[in-house]
Amino acid sequence: MAVTETRTYRCLDCREHTIEREYDVSHLSITCEGCGEFARFVHAGVYRQYMDFEESPPDDVAWERLTRMQKFTIAEGIVRSDKTLDDFDISGDAADGHETDEADETDEADETDREDA
Ligand SMILES: [Zn+2]
Repeated sequence: MAVTETRTYRCLDCREHTIEREYDVSHLSITCEGCGEFARFVHAGVYRQYMDFEESPPDDVAWERLTRMQKFTIAEGIVRSDKTLDDFDISGDAADGHETDEADETDEADETDREDA
């Protein structure tokens, strides 16, 4: 076996520098030779899925509200395992965000209004 297959990983910090590695993992963290940051490099396939979602966000997901890392975690799960979007609790109230409380209050207010009317 003389030929070794390599995988491409892309720096998430500058998103331009790529590295080749012989092993296949979802991501790795090393110092980027391009931007000099200790950055997370994601598998090229994961990055491609991420970009697909950026261009056309999945219907059931509040994609814009997710953090970049959440997005990559999802892309990673879909590309690297058999997970689907349903496996991620990302419908809106899942995130550890502070916006959840506000959303709940709004919902309650709406219900009260409806009862009064
Ligand atoms: Zn970089």
